[in-house]
Amino acid sequence: MRIRYIVVFTGAGVSRESGLPTFRDVDGLWIKYPIEEVATIDALVRNTEKVLEFYNIRRRKILEAKPNAAHYAIASLEKKYNTVVITQNIDNLHERAGSTKVIHLHGLITQNKCMCPTPHYYDIDITDDRTIDLRLGDKCEGGSQLRHNVVLFGEAVENMEIAYSEVQKADIFIVVGTSLKVYPAANLVYYTRPDAYCFCIDPDESLNLPANFCHIKSRAVKGVPWIVNFLLENPQEISSIMKEGKIVLE
Ligand SMILES: [Zn+2]
Repeated sequence: MRIRYIVVFTGAGVSRESGLPTFRDVDGLWIKYPIEEVATIDALVRNTEKVLEFYNIRRRKILEAKPNAAHYAIASLEKKYNTVVITQNIDNLHERAGSTKVIHLHGLITQNKCMCPTPHYYDIDITDDRTIDLRLGDKCEGGSQLRHNVVLFGEAVENMEIAYSEVQKADIFIVVGTSLKVYPAANLVYYTRPDAYCFCIDPDESLNLPANFCHIKSRAVKGVPWIVNFLLENPQEISSIMKEGKIVLE
């Protein structure tokens, strides 16, 4: 098969290796701020100030974090292939590593949005420290309170239709660092073409993968550069890797 179009779908396992935990990890931040008090649409309405404070902290942690080898390897695919990244992560580490086409399903924390019926979106100026934190009373041009562009529990996941159609175009589909337990994003693995080569890079033995996937059992920082190196240097080897069904890199 001639490889033209690559879609990479990433989750928390990729960001975690840059030191960014999620609420599924045991982390001090989530103990101080329980999910139901900061990560739901209900909390945003009832306790806006606390939700803004929580995402200000996460935004600053994300700005301090750095892309890792997995982010850079994914970005390097653009040297040779039409590549699209679909991510469940709210950080901008793919963009900072050089990926130019990134679809965020759960929002992008370096943007603000408002509560207008059709929201206004604003990129924050990360070079100006005074603009990084959001406070009660910060408003959009339509006069509504600004919030971080992060999808909360109770809100619709963004860009799913675009994501489905991207996966259907993929000659190679690579899933990295996602538990495949968060829906609707987890449905993406069922939208691949029958002739696509599909890989999942994750250390978790118990992942529930469709039969057409090759499971590369590895952390993202090791497994992603490994498969990307084949795609850039020896793409003819990809079909024989696929036939293995499962590969353990440790
Ligand atoms: Zn607005």
